[in-house]
This record gives sequence, C-alpha cells and structure tokens, in this order.
Amino acid sequence: MISYDSSGKIDILSLLPEELEQLILEMGEKKFRAKQIFSWLHIKCVESFDKMTDLSAQLRAELEKKFCIKSLFICKRLESTVDNTLKYLYELPDGNHIETVVMDYNHGTTICVSTQVGCKMGCRFCASTIAGYKRDLLPSEILGQIYTAQRDSGRKIGGVVLMGIGEPLDNYDNVICFLTLLSSPQGMNMSLRHVSLSTCGIVPKIRQLSQLDLGLTLSISLHAPDNASRSAIMPINEKYDVQELIAACKDYFKKTGRRISFEYALIDGHNDSREDAEKLAKLLGGFVCHVNIIPVNKIKERNYTSDRKSAQRFRGYLEQLGINATVRRTLGADIDAACGQLRREYEI
Ligand code: SAH
Repeated sequence: MISYDSSGKIDILSLLPEELEQLILEMGEKKFRAKQIFSWLHIKCVESFDKMTDLSAQLRAELEKKFCIKSLFICKRLESTVDNTLKYLYELPDGNHIETVVMDYNHGTTICVSTQVGCKMGCRFCASTIAGYKRDLLPSEILGQIYTAQRDSGRKIGGVVLMGIGEPLDNYDNVICFLTLLSSPQGMNMSLRHVSLSTCGIVPKIRQLSQLDLGLTLSISLHAPDNASRSAIMPINEKYDVQELIAACKDYFKKTGRRISFEYALIDGHNDSREDAEKLAKLLGGFVCHVNIIPVNKIKERNYTSDRKSAQRFRGYLEQLGINATVRRTLGADIDAACGQLRREYEI
C-alpha cells in the first residue's frame, strides 16, 4: 500500500513485496535488490537505510531521499512483576500515542496490537473509545509495534492478537495489508493460524473477511445475549443486531471452517445472571464455537465491576447448558494491561 509521510516520502514498511519491487525497478535497480531491502526491513527490522550494509552507499542515499522507515518511539515501558507481561506506550511520528502488550504463555509469546488511534465504536466499558477516534494506523505502524517490541524485549513474537486500541474491521484495508506483510514468506512469515482478530461486529466486513479465508481466528466481542442488553453497552448493536451478527458468524464458519471465539465481558448485574446464560446458550446452541468470559476490567470513567468468582459461576451455568466456555487468564494485573488505560492516563 503506497502512503506518504509529511515530507512526501513513501512509507516503505507498508509496501507489499511486489510494490517495493516495482519501485526499485523504476529506480533502475535489479529485482534482487528489492528482496534484499525487504529482508532488511522485515526480518532484520533495521530502522535506517545506513544499516543495509550490502547496498552501495549511493543506493542507500537514493533510498533515503525517496522513502522513510516509520519508527515508533517508546514513551513508556511497564513490566509486570507477576507474570512478565510487558506493556508499551508508543509515540507515533505525528505525536499520537498507542498501546501494545506483550504476553508470555506456555506455548510462546503473543503480542496485542492497536489498529487505530482511539476508536469510534463507543463501547461503554472500554477506555479506548472515551476520547473518541483520531485516525487509522498504517500497515507500517501496526507492524512497527511488533518489530519495536521484539527489538526492545529480545523476545521472539510467535502470535498476534488484534485486540488493542481500535476496531480492526473499521480500518479494513490497512489491516489486510498488515496481515499480508506479516505472513509474507519474505518477511516474518507468520502463519495466520497464530493470529486472532477481534471485532465488535461490523457485519458486512465480517462477510468480506470470510471471502479471503485467511485462516485466522475471528473473535467476536458479543458481551450480551440479547439486543436490549447489548445495545445498552455497545452502540454498534443498533446498526447490526445480535441476530444479523450470529448469522454472519455462522456463514463465516461455513466458509472458513474456523471455530469462532465469542468474548463475553462479564458485568455485575448487567449480563451475569442464570437467565443471561440461558439466553446465550439458546443463541449459540448447536454452533461450533467457544465463549471466553472476561471479568470486566474496571476503568475509572465507569462503574462497571466483576470478579473471577462471578466469571467462574457464569462459566458453570454455560457448561451445564452445554456451551464450551473458559475464563480468560488475567495478565499484567499490576500494570493495567487492559487496552486504552495507559494512553488515557498519558493524554489527560
Ligand atoms: N474493537 C475490537 C478490538 C479491541 S478491544 C473489539 O471490539 O473486539 C479488545 C477486547 O477487549 C474486546 O472484546 C473488548 O470488548 C474488550 N474490552 C474493552 N474494554 C474492556 C474492559 N474494560 N473490560 C473487559 N474487556 C474489555
């Protein structure tokens, strides 16, 4: 994807291999140079053309004139003393801030990336949306979160979740370009089986995504079992209701064969009763899926609360009703690892 920085230089990290090749050929260079440059950018993750030591000084100077390598500045870095979770607050070249979280699991290290600066979706319990939306992130800025964290932490990232600040399907083209770069055999070469994309439920985009059959895991932020209680906490439900959403999920499964994961942020007194569990079981009954219960993370702007005990109780209800459910492990509790919280503190 071709985009430019404020001085008119091309954002080289957002270019697909074939786009880079085309531009390098236009500079009168050989095809293999494009491969070398792509590998410096996406495997060795260098931040300047000077470090591309197998290119001539003249070519490096020409690249410098035409292209920019977007880099993220680490504004704040918090490391959990409980479980090694690392949280970064990055500053973008235009002064905006985003958050990224690195989590260690038994099976490897996963990174949670942001896809937008702020969010338009307005979910009531979410800190990322309170100050509204500023702009979409470019593919380079989503990838940059991974490359910078990897370089800084020395940890090898094996999985990616698109669950940070922003709604990935509201930044569809940049996110698809990011996924293409991430899985490029010439770059990080990550299998998209190790990627989860979380959405609040933009139905036409879920349908569009299913056509690509990328192999990733789709996570749906469901959070309520019926339209009244979902609309009360998620404005998107007014546009695409629960029935339309579930129909799109069933079609997604039919097309891709990938089991869908439903996120359910449990809020005391709002969506945590036995009756809610029964409605949820009815809604999802017979569908191959998984429910991930998350005790709602308290944010200071709202009064929503929950705890692991209620989450376990709700899981018990669902199990009795034949629905496969787990309670999400809490990571980074001592560093406020839930998305949007650090940026909010920093920007006030
Ligand atoms: N916009 C996307 C992805 C970003 S949010 C989405 O809506 O899915 C990642 C997940 O965290 C979503 O399931 C979101 O609903 C949830 N979330 C946001 N704030 C939360 C909070 N305070 N407590 C628990 N989960 C929260």
